[in-house]
Amino acid sequence: MKIGVLALQGAVTEHIVSIGKTGAEGTPIKRVEQLDEVEGLIIPGGESTTIGKLMHKYGFIDAIREFAGQGKPVFGTCAGLIVLAKEIVGGESAHLELMDITVQRNAFGRQRESFECDLDVKGIDEPVRAVFIRAPLIEKVGPNVEVLSVYNDEIVTAREGNLLVSSFHPELTDDYRLHQYFADMVQAAGSTEQ
Ligand code: GLN
Repeated sequence: MKIGVLALQGAVTEHIVSIGKTGAEGTPIKRVEQLDEVEGLIIPGGESTTIGKLMHKYGFIDAIREFAGQGKPVFGTCAGLIVLAKEIVGGESAHLELMDITVQRNAFGRQRESFECDLDVKGIDEPVRAVFIRAPLIEKVGPNVEVLSVYNDEIVTAREGNLLVSSFHPELTDDYRLHQYFADMVQAAGSTEQ
């Protein structure tokens, strides 16, 4: 099973390593045609305005909408979460507008630009080690969105059907259980395909 990592900007290699630990194969995606070769896609952290601009420039907006529209799973981490959201607080234009969430960028305050913690995530037995870097939070979720984890009452992991998002960077620790969770989503989506 192959899972792509959008390789326009951001933390790509670390995701590929984490995917490898699940037994699936991770591969960088630089051109839209390469989406045909993978069954799931990770949009990594980085800088969401830059990733959004590059996605527009290289045709990924329509291509990823189509990919997700076919039921293939997409996982956005940090900036990847922001580009998947239907709405961004503060009037900035949204990018893919795929997931029914409203996000606030850089939401944890300057003095706490980055921090780590152990998070309970629904569907994973023991707490997950989470690294937050200038992280967004999910301010509002639509009726079909399942909240998977909260930190200080703020939503930081969520799922809507084949879409998964986390505010934090699961690829920056040895803990690959969120990648395993995603790989299981990809596996399940593949086995229901006609
Ligand atoms: N602060 C970044 C943004 O708003 C996201 C940071 C990250 O991906 N680590 O795009």
